[in-house]
Amino acid sequence: MSNAENFTDLGLDPRLSTILDHQGISRPTEIQALAVPTAIVGHDLIASSKTGSGKTLAYLLPTMQRLMRQKALSKKDPRVLILTPTRELAKQVYAQLRSLVSGTQLRAVLVLGGENFNDQAKALGKDPHVVVATPGRLVNHLDERSLFLDGLELLILDEADRMLDLGFAEQLNRINQIASHRLRQTLMFSATLEHAEVNSMAKTLLKSPKRIAIGAANAEHADIEKRFYFADHLDHKQALLERILDTETYQQVIIFTATRADTERLSQLLSGKGLKTAALSGEMSQTDRNKIMDSFSRGQQQVLITTDVASRGLDLLQVSLVVNFDMPKQAEEYVHRIGRTGRAGAKGVAISLVGPKDWDAFKRVESFLQQSVNFGELDGLKAKFKGVKDAPVAKVPKSEVSAAVARPKRVIKAPQDRKNRRTANLQIVSDDGMAPLKKKKAD
Ligand code: AMP
Repeated sequence: MSNAENFTDLGLDPRLSTILDHQGISRPTEIQALAVPTAIVGHDLIASSKTGSGKTLAYLLPTMQRLMRQKALSKKDPRVLILTPTRELAKQVYAQLRSLVSGTQLRAVLVLGGENFNDQAKALGKDPHVVVATPGRLVNHLDERSLFLDGLELLILDEADRMLDLGFAEQLNRINQIASHRLRQTLMFSATLEHAEVNSMAKTLLKSPKRIAIGAANAEHADIEKRFYFADHLDHKQALLERILDTETYQQVIIFTATRADTERLSQLLSGKGLKTAALSGEMSQTDRNKIMDSFSRGQQQVLITTDVASRGLDLLQVSLVVNFDMPKQAEEYVHRIGRTGRAGAKGVAISLVGPKDWDAFKRVESFLQQSVNFGELDGLKAKFKGVKDAPVAKVPKSEVSAAVARPKRVIKAPQDRKNRRTANLQIVSDDGMAPLKKKKAD
């Protein structure tokens, strides 16, 4: 937690602190204490923030403050665009935003892939002030001219590292070129700032940004207890897993495996032991994956088994226990996996099983965490394997550096592009520059 006692200390409009108070949120988290004052005075920002640190409010509060206090640059175009890598995260952000705008005249729209395009185009035609979107579908709307971003004032990238890992660089560059108002402010959030592509994208998107790094990589997830056990072979790992599930206290657990075959085998094993288990497979359709995630999030299963590939594009939910049945190939993936636990100050446990095949991956994680790791033992399940002595320490793989693209010139649209646009003269800001927060009651 931060030193700031309350949100008004950060320069936040008292009306917003009142809304937060009603939600039981009264003391800023560390990322909020640093990001909110920086963002509300208009600086561009690149911030590292782990899942569960309160990062969503760290950018939604400056969003709200801008909408409430500053005059719009355009009466038609959205003022704020929030991009997230996954539909699930976009939905969570939208829900949090709705809780802030409810009771105001501000309109927010959610634009996700896989949903009806025309309905979204209709909603965008009603001149929303804020759009929360995944990048692919947003670019479709730009292509179809159901959305214009000339007047965009604030561009926010949440989990920028994941967006780039998922291959959205091209879409982000397009959006950056189109939303080219010279007064645009840009905020970029990423689980890690040690990501070459994130830094390269930041150079393209941000103007003299302030940098906020909440703890170094080794200090991240301080509220997550990380445990490691040696394992000799597959059967040994299974025995360790069964013991862990018998002895740990948890409501729900996510288990990560290296292969789909292991996911299926473990799913059968654990279902056979009476645990309500769901497995995500990389071959499932998005609809089936969403169904599984929905039922897991409603608590209908205790155990979710997945590979990194199968869980790509899904924002896995918060649980108190994560088990790495196999170590992830990339050290950064370890951070993503264990970030599913320990949200907003709650304690989480991340247990990793390390066999001979996991050794190189384990060393990469260890050097990434910059922490020496102690291995635990479970009674009767002691491993003979104790690591590989004097093996060369593998380096943390650096993502490929994509060439920094110079900020392109403003794209000026031909007047006929805008011919068919709605001309509603929407009064969203009152004469003193303050947006009316409460709807006027009928007399
Ligand atoms: P996030 O990191 O944005 O996903 O937030 C994780 C959770 O923390 C969400 O459920 C938020 O509602 C909650 N949260 C955010 N900020 C605060 C705060 N200052 N105090 C207490 N809870 C918070």
